[in-house]
Amino acid sequence: MSNLIAPHGGKGLVCALLEGAALEAEKQKAAGLKQLSISGRENGDLIMMGIGGFSPLNGFMGKASWKRVCEEYLLEDGTFWPIPVTLSADKADADAINIGDEIALVNPDGETMATMKVEEKFEMSEADKKWECEKCYKGKGEESADDKFWEIAMEDHPGVQMVMGQKDVNLAGPVKVLGEGDFRERFPGVYMSPAESRAIFEKKGWSTIAALQLRNPMHRSHEHLAKIAADVCDGVFIHSLVGALKPGDIPAEVRIECIDTLIDGYFVKENVVQGGYPLDMRYAGPREGLLHATFRQNYGVSKMIIGRDHAGVGDFYGLFDAQTIFDEIPKPEDDGKRLLCEPLKIDWTFYCKTCDGMASLRTCPHDDSVRVKLSGTKLRKALSEGTEVVDHFGREEVLVILRKYYAGLKDKVEIKMHNKV
Ligand SMILES: [Zn+2]
Repeated sequence: MSNLIAPHGGKGLVCALLEGAALEAEKQKAAGLKQLSISGRENGDLIMMGIGGFSPLNGFMGKASWKRVCEEYLLEDGTFWPIPVTLSADKADADAINIGDEIALVNPDGETMATMKVEEKFEMSEADKKWECEKCYKGKGEESADDKFWEIAMEDHPGVQMVMGQKDVNLAGPVKVLGEGDFRERFPGVYMSPAESRAIFEKKGWSTIAALQLRNPMHRSHEHLAKIAADVCDGVFIHSLVGALKPGDIPAEVRIECIDTLIDGYFVKENVVQGGYPLDMRYAGPREGLLHATFRQNYGVSKMIIGRDHAGVGDFYGLFDAQTIFDEIPKPEDDGKRLLCEPLKIDWTFYCKTCDGMASLRTCPHDDSVRVKLSGTKLRKALSEGTEVVDHFGREEVLVILRKYYAGLKDKVEIKMHNKV
């Protein structure tokens, strides 16, 4: 009997990835099916369904689940789920597909990733897409104000751009996944499935595990969060996004090297596991915080560290909305339908010169003049422009890696600063 938290949905790990003879047979069949091109986001979602990261989902959502997830954070059957997982097609492609057809899904690299049995088609008008964006991506931050949101979001919100850029018809149905892309080759020992992380945690005898979500290079503030978690849980899972980010963000290879260096120099190795997951960022702020907790539960994680502006972009979300949303979501009675992974809410952390160490708004009584406020955006901006990084922002060993990366960059992307950082 495992001491780990059960996967979300009450059905164990639901893995759509085929293996062995079944995989070979399905690949052969896929070659003869109608091909449909999918986006990077859909590709990441498929791999998560393949490896059980999106348990209990076994395919792309139909209209009833799409609508209920947007409105109530619940799938059609009443299981908690925070954000739509949908697949879109051109009207012409969709018209050529009949309900009951099987189709092959081809990713942007030309690889056939899955087959899908189409059980439902539903049109997504411009108004439907806008409604999804307002439900899922419009927050309580300044840039989400009614008179500003659409103007700014179309320019600056990658999640909104992704939804608005979807094609006109959503196709729904169960999938059979044929591969994991090149993540295993690119990130050996780091990219792992929920079954693999669970096996590692069980071998270590852990039952309470906190996950630190990372998409920026790990700086002092992240290190501090991970160490607080290490003090109150059996172990910490430093779990990086290895899917696509927005331009100007730092590639996963570089971020993983930074984490390795930090673990080597500043952590008790027995208490930390590093992992990577294949999703693209949706930048959905609070809803993405919930998604992070949901799929972490599948990875065996019982506490999701949620700091300031978790999964945010620009000023679309309130700084701590991703924490408070955990108190507002529906909590079905049935353990299988409820989100069991809890947030580990930690206030804004920084280095304080007077405290002479890392501190948070809950522990440090001093004013801003003695605090070194840390943010990934600020760090990327300083490194990108070649200006000095203030003391205590990051560990020197990590800055060496990042400076080397920026020195080798040919095309620099301007990093936009927002009011709150
Ligand atoms: Zn202080």
